[in-house]
Amino acid sequence: MVNPFLNICMKLRISLLSLIVVVLYNLKLYKSLKGFAVKMNFDIKALARKALDARNKSYSPYSHFRVGAALLCKDGKIYIGANIENAAYAPTNCAERTAFFSAVMDGQSDFAAIFISGGAADMPDEFCPPCGVCRQVMREFCNPEEFRIFLVKSEQEVAEYRLCELLPMGFGPDNLER
Ligand SMILES: [Zn+2]
Repeated sequence: MVNPFLNICMKLRISLLSLIVVVLYNLKLYKSLKGFAVKMNFDIKALARKALDARNKSYSPYSHFRVGAALLCKDGKIYIGANIENAAYAPTNCAERTAFFSAVMDGQSDFAAIFISGGAADMPDEFCPPCGVCRQVMREFCNPEEFRIFLVKSEQEVAEYRLCELLPMGFGPDNLER
């Protein structure tokens, strides 16, 4: 005859195991759903093209280093920006911030990704990463784990990063809430 105490233990173990399986399954499902919600589908080549074309709007008579940016909002709208230099140098604005500030002025606050292209040549021969100031502006408006930064050399040559990779341990609005 089976010891009743052992019998209960066995049953409890089985139900505990099923509970763990159910929890793990739901956690996986939740994560994939969350990933789906976060990951927007968009045309990487088309946005890379927009960043490359935005370089034509650059005002860079001093450095001749033309930068273009295409900022994608979560509602699908795209804002472009280019670097705008100044004879006094310090007032110069980067392409990324030009795009961000245009979008914010238009009432946007949810951003999915930015495409950045820059260089002195007609076609960039290097990836052009955003400067520290622009990374900080992105941190103000974007979730560092989600916001995607695409560096563009051509429509075919694109390198993707998350903001948290380019600005680890960044200081943002949430730090002031504590
Ligand atoms: Zn910048």
